[in-house]
Amino acid sequence: MATNGTADILSSAYLAVEYVDAVLPENPFQPSLKHAWGYMMDNYTKFQIATWGSLIVHEFIYFLFCLPGFLFQFMPFMQKYKIQQDRPETWEKQWRCFKMLLFNHFCIQLPLICGTYYFTEFFNIPYDWDSMPRWPFVLAQCFGCAVVEDTWHYFLHRALHHRKVYKYIHKVHHEFTAPFGMQAEYAHPAETLILGAGFFIGIMLFCNHVFFLWAWVSFRLLETIDVHSGYDIPWNPLHLIPFYAGTRFHDFHHMNFVGNYASTFTWWDKLLKTDNQYNKHMEKLGDKKEQ
Ligand SMILES: [Zn+2]
Ligand SMILES: [Zn+2]
Repeated sequence: MATNGTADILSSAYLAVEYVDAVLPENPFQPSLKHAWGYMMDNYTKFQIATWGSLIVHEFIYFLFCLPGFLFQFMPFMQKYKIQQDRPETWEKQWRCFKMLLFNHFCIQLPLICGTYYFTEFFNIPYDWDSMPRWPFVLAQCFGCAVVEDTWHYFLHRALHHRKVYKYIHKVHHEFTAPFGMQAEYAHPAETLILGAGFFIGIMLFCNHVFFLWAWVSFRLLETIDVHSGYDIPWNPLHLIPFYAGTRFHDFHHMNFVGNYASTFTWWDKLLKTDNQYNKHMEKLGDKKEQ
């Protein structure tokens, strides 16, 4: 019966997205996107699109989303949003992070990206404009992927914190106790593979177009760079996502090492009570403000 229940929920969710799709206006970027997509399809092979296209999307989006957080350190009026005020970013840390990132991106992630073409061929994932899902579906699928990834991340991340394995792998990601955006993918190569697997499960479940793959990469990068940014900005639009954990939540994990293991949402930590220390910390902060 549980299967029927899940099927009912999924079909209701699908109907809701269809309704939203019918009511909302056309995407204003549609004509230019269609033109650009047509140009890409006419001039490049599927292999080039899947491999080099995915690499460019990943690199471009990563550094583009890191840029605002990077610039905030030079803006005095943004300093009131910095969470760990006593630990500013340093050039030395950022340079070290940048070098490790390039190694990770080109020596670990690029070989994985090279598998994209074979994945799309094996599962008959379309590339053409006409099969592209409409944007409300893309958003809903990204949300679905985030739920799956968050679950994987919670349990595997928590396991990586076990005292017997922590020092071998996850310690690298915790090298900086006050995170900054670029540090999002600063990790041991084994961690890139272990936690990165959660990213691929969603793709296996939801991928129906190569465009969706890039949308999900962008969504995931936006989220992980945001939670590592070190700045808690009240008007951050990502806070509109239901149950979104946010920067303060993950920043606390880097400061405290214990608790707040989830990547995107708050529900697993709440359910398994691994957000207790965080809640106490937030209460204390609230008390200080009132005094
Ligand atoms: Zn951790
Ligand atoms: Zn982190």
